[in-house]
Amino acid sequence: MNFEYTDKSKALQKRVDDFMQQHIFPLEKKHYEFTSKNLWQHHPFLEELKGLARKEGLWNLFLPKSYGDLSPGLTNLEYAPLAELMGRVMWSSEIFNCSAPDTGNMEVLAKYGTPQQQKQWLKPLMNGDIRSAFLMTEPQVASSDATNIETSIVRDGDEYVINGRKWWSSGVMNPSAKVYIVMGKTDPKAQRHIQQSMILVPADTPGVKVVRPLSVFGNWDSPEGHGEVELNNVRVPASNLLVDEGSGFAIAQGRLGPGRIHHCMRLIGAAQRALDLMCIRVSQRETFGKSVSQYSSIRQDIAQSRCDIQQARLLTLAAADKIDRFGIKEAKDLVAMIKIVVPSMTCRVVDRAIQAHGGMGVCQDTPLAGFWVYGRTVRLADGPDEVHMYQLGRNTIKQMQTKV
Ligand SMILES: Cc1cc2nc3c(=O)[nH]c(=O)nc-3n(C[C@H](O)[C@H](O)[C@H](O)COP(=O)(O)OP(=O)(O)OC[C@H]3O[C@@H](n4cnc5c(N)ncnc54)[C@H](O)[C@@H]3O)c2cc1C
Repeated sequence: MNFEYTDKSKALQKRVDDFMQQHIFPLEKKHYEFTSKNLWQHHPFLEELKGLARKEGLWNLFLPKSYGDLSPGLTNLEYAPLAELMGRVMWSSEIFNCSAPDTGNMEVLAKYGTPQQQKQWLKPLMNGDIRSAFLMTEPQVASSDATNIETSIVRDGDEYVINGRKWWSSGVMNPSAKVYIVMGKTDPKAQRHIQQSMILVPADTPGVKVVRPLSVFGNWDSPEGHGEVELNNVRVPASNLLVDEGSGFAIAQGRLGPGRIHHCMRLIGAAQRALDLMCIRVSQRETFGKSVSQYSSIRQDIAQSRCDIQQARLLTLAAADKIDRFGIKEAKDLVAMIKIVVPSMTCRVVDRAIQAHGGMGVCQDTPLAGFWVYGRTVRLADGPDEVHMYQLGRNTIKQMQTKV
């Protein structure tokens, strides 16, 4: 394994970093003030910044080389340090059209969409004209086991009729979210993993109702938000189905692979920035006659954080490299490992940085509180830690059994 970044990736790292230094970091405070007072609205500067990023060719960097003409031509390994740089500011990945859940949805459409579905939805998503949401989780069933999903998708002539209730649908509060990928069951009597299907539902279809936004540790994550959505006799053309009836589970597995790895790359950026801020802060403050940076406990926290971040970074690069060379299926154990390791690592590193900042660490004057919430919620989103451990443990035992 050689994780030396290519020249192409290094050149892009410099350009993404320069862009962030010049255009994004100076607006952090303004962005916080706007979003905390204007729920579900985009600050006009976001659109301006997107135009700039696009003009500079810093756009859709996430879509891997294997997607041919649709892709800017980077491997996952080349993209990882770019996503890490974006992770230093929670809202910045959208400026580069590289934010969740759109990236996962775009990959689904690029991989499984018909030419018509791609024209109607993938093109505007890749242009950044609209946004999207992914509706799988349901309030009434334990959704970490996707086979529990109850939403029904029933064929009726040239249409499908959808009924169900979803929640934690990220992005649905955003007025720009125009299309949802909905997972439900087309055949509840079929074998467990072929009961599910995925279907495209335009947000303005009659019967689609966003019932309420859900807060995350008291925050609304505006303008994207997370919502509870009712689907009541929602009718869409049969041609909106992705692939075939029964392929929903397989698509979900493919979709969550890239999504998980992108979250981990960004979380490493968040952890690295937390450590950088911690080093600066402890060098600026004095207690009991000496710099806080001179206390052994603080130095241990800094050293431990540096080790934690670098271990997680190397594991994430190993997962990216394996996906590039062997595909998502072969890389599934490494993807599970980073999903288990990285969010918890981020929480630990950010927690140490918060502690070293004192009261300042929990308020809006630093991005630390947002970073901690991000790490904590990714321990649930895209599958809870325990589910990844359960599956990784099972795979590990199986692999050992074939060796003895
Ligand atoms: C901020 C945020 C954004 C999200 N965005 C989306 C989105 O855009 N679209 C979407 O569809 N969903 C989204 N989710 C939902 C997320 O994917 C689910 O919350 C997650 O999959 C868990 O499902 P659940 O909430 O039904 O928990 P449950 O399935 O009820 O599980 C609860 C707990 O049971 C335990 N558990 C479950 N299985 C096992 C096991 N095998 N071994 C040990 N313990 C176990 C775990 O502790 C788990 O946390 C989001 C969630 C959050 C918090």
